[in-house]
Amino acid sequence: MDKDSAGKIIGRFAPSPTGPLHFGSLVTAVGSYCLARKAGGRWLVRIEDLDQPRVVEGADGLILKSLEALGFEWDAPPLYQSRRFERYEDVLATLNAEGRLFPCACSRKEILASAPHFGEEGPVYPGTCRQGISSGGRPRSLRLRVPDELIAFTDGVFGCIEQHLPTTVGDFVLRRADGLFAYQLAVVVDDADSGVNQVVRGADLLPSTPRQIYLYACLGWPVPRYVHLPLALGHDGEKISKRHGVLTLAPGDDSGELIWQALRFLGQDVPDALKGYPEAEVLRWGTEYFCLDRVSQANRVPETLEA
Ligand code: GLU
Repeated sequence: MDKDSAGKIIGRFAPSPTGPLHFGSLVTAVGSYCLARKAGGRWLVRIEDLDQPRVVEGADGLILKSLEALGFEWDAPPLYQSRRFERYEDVLATLNAEGRLFPCACSRKEILASAPHFGEEGPVYPGTCRQGISSGGRPRSLRLRVPDELIAFTDGVFGCIEQHLPTTVGDFVLRRADGLFAYQLAVVVDDADSGVNQVVRGADLLPSTPRQIYLYACLGWPVPRYVHLPLALGHDGEKISKRHGVLTLAPGDDSGELIWQALRFLGQDVPDALKGYPEAEVLRWGTEYFCLDRVSQANRVPETLEA
């Protein structure tokens, strides 16, 4: 970290380049930007192109262009996860040397069949390969052993959150059977290496946070502050994604109004009079007046979509 960053808030926006920016991701970008800038902090962009098969060619460029057109300014060149595989490998080696990892031979189907119960995130890993792979099994993924303790943290919107990893997810995957690094690993390594100390993102990632906090503990790194924002939903009740094409941002959209809508979605008291202003002005309002206490926990359909 450079000396300009010492003691500062460092926030980030970490889109996956699986399609163009949409209203749901804009909400996260606006929230993380305003909270970082209001605190006089830095703001970074990371392209989460870890899951190469899901990456859509050119989506990273489109996302960055949209962000620029919407008036965002980032303080360092965007970081690409696809250029950091060696670093993830090194961190895995460190964890492995400490005896924290074990190879697992179970297929998804086997875990489904043997899981003691379902957690929020699917079947809980029953610990089948914890003591070693049974004869004839072939190592597929690498898992991190989780402790029999509660992981607790205070979220900026959702308050006190507690999770017992063994009964919620079980020992979790850091390297997948297809050889790809897991999101849980990459996100922790990237945020820590970039000095990110304020993670603002969608509430769909709230259940992942205890896993990430446990990884920080294993690696002896300081845990960031977490703020999870409500999700913008489509009329079908699902989180807005590229499937809801109507909300994809396009050139010629009124950028100022989009920022205004995102601030409104986050419960901010942004004046009606600002609606017609250029994006930079509306965003500046957010960096001065954004109030976290006004953000609700409820996922909902944004006003722009309300019929
Ligand atoms: N890449 C994730 C997404 O686009 C966000 C991950 C994070 O913020 O930790 O939903």
